[in-house]
Amino acid sequence: MEEHKVLLDKRKKYRPSLPCPKDKTSLLHHCIKNAVLFVEGAEGHPEKAWNADLYKCPSCDNLVLTDFGNIPEWTLENTPDLQGFLDERKKHGAAGGDPPVIVYLWQFEGRVAA
Ligand SMILES: [Zn+2]
Repeated sequence: MEEHKVLLDKRKKYRPSLPCPKDKTSLLHHCIKNAVLFVEGAEGHPEKAWNADLYKCPSCDNLVLTDFGNIPEWTLENTPDLQGFLDERKKHGAAGGDPPVIVYLWQFEGRVAA
């Protein structure tokens, strides 16, 4: 496993060129993983889970987690059982695709294994 630096870009209005937050290179066509579930909140108190995609910048080689959905996939308010939701997602994947990679904000130190 190789460690890459991961940049987080939660802006909603970055289309259509999807620029790298570091050097503005377009990340289009450089998606390396669809269906990343990004869990927000604090450890022991998750609040929302978002669907995002992981890209690799062809210029600076950083990974960029971006392209967040407009509506969270899961919220504490609507479905208190996060683990149940995650288990379901792992079983079935998003829209029949691969099971998601799950990233927790409180474990997010700018690096993930990829
Ligand atoms: Zn870049």
